[in-house]
Amino acid sequence: MPKERNQEVWKYYKVDKSGIKRLRKECPRCKGSFLAEHKDRRHCGNCGYTEFKTKDQK
Ligand SMILES: [Zn+2]
Repeated sequence: MPKERNQEVWKYYKVDKSGIKRLRKECPRCKGSFLAEHKDRRHCGNCGYTEFKTKDQK
């Protein structure tokens, strides 16, 4: 796997004192793709999957 690709993946993670946090959710349809964060939903640019955020989720 090319190094450039690994660096891309790291954009979706945040490393802090407690360890690695995932910033984005993975697409349930095409695993390995991340969902783009929107104000009220998450969207997969790969397959078009959209997940709406509910009010009780932060
Ligand atoms: Zn997808």
